[in-house]
Amino acid sequence: MQKKGGDTRIAPSEPALRIIMRRLREIMAEPSDGQSRLDKIVRQIAGLMVAEVSSIYLKRQDGSLELFATEGLNPGAVHNTLLKRGEGLVGRCAELAVPINEPDAQNHPAFSYRPETGEEIFHSFLAVPVLRGGEVLGVLTIQNKTQKEYSDEDVEVLQTTAMVLAEHLVTGAVAAANTSAQFSRAIGHVVRGQPLSEGLALGHAVLHDARVVVTEVEAKDPDAEARRLETAIAELQASIDEMLEQGDLSASGEHRDVLEAYRMFAHDRGWLRRMKEAIGRGMTAEAAVERVQNDNRSRMPRQADAYWRERLKDLDALSDRLLRVLSGSPRAHASIASLPHDAVLVARSMGPADLLDYDRSRLRGLVLEDSGRQSHVAIVARALGIPAIGDARGVMERVDQGNPIIVDAETGEVHIRPSSGVIAAYGDKARFRARRQRKYRALRDRPAVTRDGQRIELHINAGLEMDVPHLAQSGADGIGLFRTELQFMVSATLPRLEQQTQMYRAILQEAAGKPVVFRTLDVGGDKALPYLRQPVEENPALGWRAIRLSLDRPGLLRTQVRALLRAAAGQPLRLMLPMVTTVGEVDMAHALIDREVQLMDRRGVAGPAEVQVGVMIEVPSLLYELDALLPRVDFASVGSNDLMQYLFAADRNNTRVAGRYDALSASPLRALAAIAHAAKRHSRPLGLCGEMAGRPLEAMALIGLGFRSISMAPASIGPVKSMVLSLDVGKLERWLETTLRTAEGSLRGRLKVFAEEQGVEI
Ligand code: PEP
Ligand code: MG
Repeated sequence: MQKKGGDTRIAPSEPALRIIMRRLREIMAEPSDGQSRLDKIVRQIAGLMVAEVSSIYLKRQDGSLELFATEGLNPGAVHNTLLKRGEGLVGRCAELAVPINEPDAQNHPAFSYRPETGEEIFHSFLAVPVLRGGEVLGVLTIQNKTQKEYSDEDVEVLQTTAMVLAEHLVTGAVAAANTSAQFSRAIGHVVRGQPLSEGLALGHAVLHDARVVVTEVEAKDPDAEARRLETAIAELQASIDEMLEQGDLSASGEHRDVLEAYRMFAHDRGWLRRMKEAIGRGMTAEAAVERVQNDNRSRMPRQADAYWRERLKDLDALSDRLLRVLSGSPRAHASIASLPHDAVLVARSMGPADLLDYDRSRLRGLVLEDSGRQSHVAIVARALGIPAIGDARGVMERVDQGNPIIVDAETGEVHIRPSSGVIAAYGDKARFRARRQRKYRALRDRPAVTRDGQRIELHINAGLEMDVPHLAQSGADGIGLFRTELQFMVSATLPRLEQQTQMYRAILQEAAGKPVVFRTLDVGGDKALPYLRQPVEENPALGWRAIRLSLDRPGLLRTQVRALLRAAAGQPLRLMLPMVTTVGEVDMAHALIDREVQLMDRRGVAGPAEVQVGVMIEVPSLLYELDALLPRVDFASVGSNDLMQYLFAADRNNTRVAGRYDALSASPLRALAAIAHAAKRHSRPLGLCGEMAGRPLEAMALIGLGFRSISMAPASIGPVKSMVLSLDVGKLERWLETTLRTAEGSLRGRLKVFAEEQGVEI
């Protein structure tokens, strides 16, 4: 390991680590109370790491951090110094769950000065999170008077110490702040999350506890540990191979790509090497797995790069699996016989393979604390048709094994220990849902025509091959947005020309003549591809993405356009450019597409009957250049998800601000009306393909503004069509035009009243 400048310690890390491990063991073996043990631990750390200060902060129930023990700071501060969630460098370490190494902490903007500690004389500061099972239990710090950056070895020693400390904290061998307050288990709870896979489930909770507690850290016989690791890895690989052979998953589809990528991870040499290196430093096989897993977790970027976050989660789930193999019980759950017939799985997070461990005939639903729609487990849950909710914060703390639980993947609500009234209401809801689904199915082949005779085109959004059958099932008019990047994101390597051509051809075939709008790659920003080198950006949403990246790296776009032209031979091809900001970008993309068409002609390769090029309107700059833009394109579609994010300057992925502004406010509605008027002026077909198109009230407003084509999730087609069939557009247009002239703020309430008065089904 490399030494960084400023380190004055001469002793190599290995002995320091070994000595600390031995001392920790001795401290735990001595008869003593929890507080005295913590006091001894900080004293040992300070001594062995030549630090003037060593402190332990533990997390309280409310998320604040309490100074529990210190060597070097004012002893009077113990149990008196409290840091609010995220406060100071210690709070930041806990929030981000990463080490913080600051040579001059005093002058760091996040430093929070606490006079009672007497820490003003210390400059250098190193904090590591005390992590267990992905949860931050506290923070372990060291400080020195001199300004220096701590070495990688120091970080390593402190992290390993924190790992051992975490195990003792949960076994109760040392005092812990967050075990005191108890949740009331008697009353029911509602946890809100994000629907991942459609449906409603009533059942009993099965906690998926993937964790194995690692108690032995130090290896007695390193060679034997290395052999144990190798045997366990071989067993892990074999079990995943076996799982992939299962009948109902063997068909191709996106879930298959996800599982193949998962299998590749189990063979990843870098991962295996790092674990072996940890064993080489004197750890047991289990400790080595956990050590590398903790490193991975701290690398899991919090906001950026959704793709890599997903991959690191796969690796995390694989590590849990490997720990279970080492412990002799490879599956996360008890025997199949003990699984209730109406099991609802509840987990912090889960790898796609973990879900497949369970008997699917008994699985009713799935609730995850921290997985989003594009998580790999969500993709597999959708493929299996299991209702699922992700991003359900706090659910693990509130639910016990066997609790009655309801998963409402329509609203994103999880009801834990619901009252008999709630269960009865959900029973009704389930019956109502079945009736409603029957009604929507009956509408499937009816065209969406309003009461006053206006035909509204309803399209679906898709991105994976397995989404395409929804086109026929929903009775939609076409695919209004095919997000091609999703295929690239779930592939481990760049899909080649032939592979892309085959996929696009399969999609067009499945669409059976209905129109499909292929959006060219919308990658970059937080949609990163592992095989594409990309700079780290401070503001990925405003960064090098979509058309910007495609024009700078034309090879990618050229191959994709070529594949699309070939796939659409003999039929119309509709291409759509994402994130266009200036008309110049449209001209450049046009030139590239034209060159490819000419090249095909010259080579005598069969091309499409017609190529239509459209743009997404999702950057506000285009609003003031519509008269230059629209004549250059064959059609346009508003990407309202991005357009709203940029109009309101509110990050669509940041839950604190994403829901703060209403898309049905006067200001964005005026922007949408201006786009609709311009499209009419230039006789260009216009659509909208953001989330708002799938909500009946929002869809009603869009139609009132002049939109005649909208694209949405397949499950929204039924509800939106039933709204369209009950709508009189003429009345709505007149009302909306007058109202918008003077309106301010949100029009949601007034639109609802309009719908109720006019008998529109929303
Ligand atoms: C949008 O921005 O509204 C859109 C449809 O594109 P995406 O959600 O893929 O950014
Ligand atoms: Mg967009």
